[in-house]
Amino acid sequence: MFNIVIFGAPGSGKGTQSDKLIAHYNLFHISTGDVLRDHIMRGTELGKTANAYISDGKLIPDDLMISILDSVLDDNAEAVKEGVIFDGFPRTIPQAKSLKAMLEKRGAKVNIVLGLEVDEAELIDRLIKRGLESGRSDDNLETIKKRLVVYHNQTSPLKQYYLDEGKYAAIEGSGSIDAIFNRIKDAVDKVRG
Ligand code: AMP
Repeated sequence: MFNIVIFGAPGSGKGTQSDKLIAHYNLFHISTGDVLRDHIMRGTELGKTANAYISDGKLIPDDLMISILDSVLDDNAEAVKEGVIFDGFPRTIPQAKSLKAMLEKRGAKVNIVLGLEVDEAELIDRLIKRGLESGRSDDNLETIKKRLVVYHNQTSPLKQYYLDEGKYAAIEGSGSIDAIFNRIKDAVDKVRG
């Protein structure tokens, strides 16, 4: 199992680069944002709970998010054996600690954390452009600003957490999609051999 965490602020290109990683390395993709949006679309109880947080730019509480991820791993037990791209998870230190435990339970670990680094003005610009097409309830200026504050307060400390674990690879996240992906491939191949 080779497990990648793709990490970065909203708008840093996690989804776009995950698509390229899936195609190139044949890994299983778990986007917690997509999982939640799917519940919202299907009108499940979980979807109703999640929608309130997402529309307000807030994170879903850790215990709920962790149990959702554990179920996704169980439901896809065969597919995840090759390895997983975790996109949008972890977003807090408790989530990172749980991910470690959840993978240990399955005889695996996080192999590399790809940190897409993009400056804030570019993030806002990208998210506003995405909002024109995505129809996402959180891609409007007011919610984008809240999400960036949440990112700085709750998610960005994970960079130091994974630096301390020797797993963080900083990826310059500006430039063409292919140029960024080439940087990602270099970082992954160094660790994967
Ligand atoms: P994303 O598609 O990754 O940008 O996620 C969209 C929204 O879903 C986030 O702003 C959060 O409200 C929620 N979300 C996604 N992943 C997580 C997570 N790991 N922890 C808490 N909330 C999450």
